[in-house]
Amino acid sequence: MLDTAIDLLRGRRIAVLTGAGISTDSGIPDYRGEGAPRRTPMVFDTFRSSEDARRRYWAGSHLGWRRFVSVHPNDGHRALARLEQAGLVTGIATQNVDDLHERAGSREVVHVHGQMHTVSCLDCGRTYDRQRIAEDIERRNPWIVVPEQVRLQPDGDVEIDASQRFEVPVCPVCGGMLKPDVVFFGELVPPKVFAAARDVIAAGEVVLVAGTSLVVNSGTRLLEVARREDVPIVIVNRGETKWDARSAVRVEGGTSETLTAIADALVAPF
Ligand SMILES: [Zn+2]
Repeated sequence: MLDTAIDLLRGRRIAVLTGAGISTDSGIPDYRGEGAPRRTPMVFDTFRSSEDARRRYWAGSHLGWRRFVSVHPNDGHRALARLEQAGLVTGIATQNVDDLHERAGSREVVHVHGQMHTVSCLDCGRTYDRQRIAEDIERRNPWIVVPEQVRLQPDGDVEIDASQRFEVPVCPVCGGMLKPDVVFFGELVPPKVFAAARDVIAAGEVVLVAGTSLVVNSGTRLLEVARREDVPIVIVNRGETKWDARSAVRVEGGTSETLTAIADALVAPF
């Protein structure tokens, strides 16, 4: 299967779609994978309407972000960056909110579900660097510490016990409600972001899907772009995906070793 995939990818412009599975080897669990803890993602309306929900969300999200900055890209991210540097990968649309693709060296990356490194004000629309807001949180909550063994979630969140003492950050300019630039449940992917992701996929003569079971609607909508144009789809994933029957080839396996094997086969060593 791997050889078939390599034959299909060779000589074609490759567009990439990635999901949580590519970051699991960096220590970020895929909550849809087997054995992953069940959890309830934050719903946008709940976040907006409940101060208690915001307090819990921000406390957990802050601890998660502090842990996130200490994780590192893995061989899967590096293989895709190598393919892009060789001019073979034209871009990556990722469902992940981490920045591991960028830190591995990929340049053309669209975060379909947003990313956790900036924070926006829901009232005035200003955007802030996450680090600045994190410092504000720690000024307001000097008791907060990052537990060494907190359990990271794919959306950069951490499950913690709600502390009534936790004080949420507010917009430094208007005092309004702040939210990380992550797409919550019940929230639409911004049309501009989706259009950019669609452009990434449409630029490919083959689409390489890595580390996602494609149960999320945005992934399906992106692959429909390829399918309508009869662009072949290559899937690398551990476990079944919703698009197995519609793919040209599916490689069962981890993304780190499989993408490394693909990059080794396609990129000349000099
Ligand atoms: Zn504001």
